[in-house]
Amino acid sequence: MDYRKFMEEFLEKNKEEFNQISDEIWGYAEPRFREYKSSKLQQEYMEKAGFSVKADLAGEETAFIAEYGSGKPVIAFLGEFDSLSGLSQEADVPEHCPVEPNGEGHGCGHNLLGTAALAATVALKAYMEENGLGGTIRYYGCPAEENAGGKAYLVRDGYFNDCDIALTWHPGTMNRVTGSGSLANFRVFYTFHGLSSHAAGAPHLGRSALDAVELMDVGVNYLREHVISDARIHYAITNPGGTAPNVVQSEAQVLYAMRAPKVSQVKELYERIGKIAQGAALMTETTVDIKQVAAYSDYIGNDTIAAQLGENLKYYLPSYTEEEKAYAQKFKEVITDLDKANLRSQAIRVFGREVGLQEYEKPIFESIAPYVSASVGGGSTDVGDVSWVVPTGQFGTACWAAGTAGHSWQVVAQGKSSIAHKGMLTAAKVLASTGYEFLTNPELVEKAKKTWLENLDGETYPNPLPPEAKPELW
Ligand SMILES: [Zn+2]
Repeated sequence: MDYRKFMEEFLEKNKEEFNQISDEIWGYAEPRFREYKSSKLQQEYMEKAGFSVKADLAGEETAFIAEYGSGKPVIAFLGEFDSLSGLSQEADVPEHCPVEPNGEGHGCGHNLLGTAALAATVALKAYMEENGLGGTIRYYGCPAEENAGGKAYLVRDGYFNDCDIALTWHPGTMNRVTGSGSLANFRVFYTFHGLSSHAAGAPHLGRSALDAVELMDVGVNYLREHVISDARIHYAITNPGGTAPNVVQSEAQVLYAMRAPKVSQVKELYERIGKIAQGAALMTETTVDIKQVAAYSDYIGNDTIAAQLGENLKYYLPSYTEEEKAYAQKFKEVITDLDKANLRSQAIRVFGREVGLQEYEKPIFESIAPYVSASVGGGSTDVGDVSWVVPTGQFGTACWAAGTAGHSWQVVAQGKSSIAHKGMLTAAKVLASTGYEFLTNPELVEKAKKTWLENLDGETYPNPLPPEAKPELW
């Protein structure tokens, strides 16, 4: 049977199982490095499906690789399953309605992300068995994409070294193959140590760590004028030094995220921000500890892999029922006026004016967005780290109503809907068929490698993690 038809039939036949896995992970809503139940559920499923599973990798308890087959090529499917804090939300309710105040929620759709990659690997295995195909396929259960960059540790420890092609996707509001365009990103803690004293009785004896944090933030806000325009710098004061204004704060901490198109540019920002931290310490007679806890590399796109993904996305593009459109419309109506204004310009920018204005009227974006090879995006992903060591392709499918913002309660609310399930299954079909194409066509693999080497242009993996960094909760 034609492979595309096979993947379609196999995945449609087994879709209830995959929907259930995704929905269970949605319910577990486990944050970075704590995805114990989510990881176990997927590991057990893969063992039953005939894969050999090794877990607890690169110091990440919830990381695992499920493998089938032997020899070359090695095709990797990447999945995630971590949730986000503060995004607990009732399913299907188009108003903010947390199940648990400040609880966890799947605000980036990683319940769908991991499950589609898993489903694709299982479908491809079934086709390999039926047709006696060689080669190796792997599903990578990757922890802690959010706020920790879990894949960077797997890359650092060599778990992708023998892979030929890596494929992944991300749920979103659009059917679109991703070009380049995710930003490299460092997360760095600055902890200031001062001296405590009575803020009224003996202020001259105190050295305020909170003053140092504030002066550092002011200094960085002046720095903004003198960095490249694609750089992004944001911070959160993670320890203000207590809640008492009448005590000079002896310890205070601020967490910075700094981003730019290339790792080398983020390294430069890191050096400059470090000087500002030292300056703030000098001004306040405090000391500062600097600790980098995560790093994401920029994404190396690959036009060869993108072309295969694009063909398959076109083949499997879904349509929606009237009920699904009505469901999405309810969510499209509750976004803020600012988001609504942004939606229109986004539709025109992405689809072009004519198609964009048509798509803008729809509750779910239905067309495939034209592929843009080189673009600069605002987000970061640890898929970037994988893309430096393996030719990698990624794409998105529409899983939520048009206009739904990432990392929002609206994403969580729609995470178990039939639209989300449909987007997930579409992604699984695209991944499985694209995986098959690379598995069985050595010339295509070579072409993707050539594209990859051209894009790297002589550079090698920048390994942005400091040598002492290890996966940890912070
Ligand atoms: Zn995500």
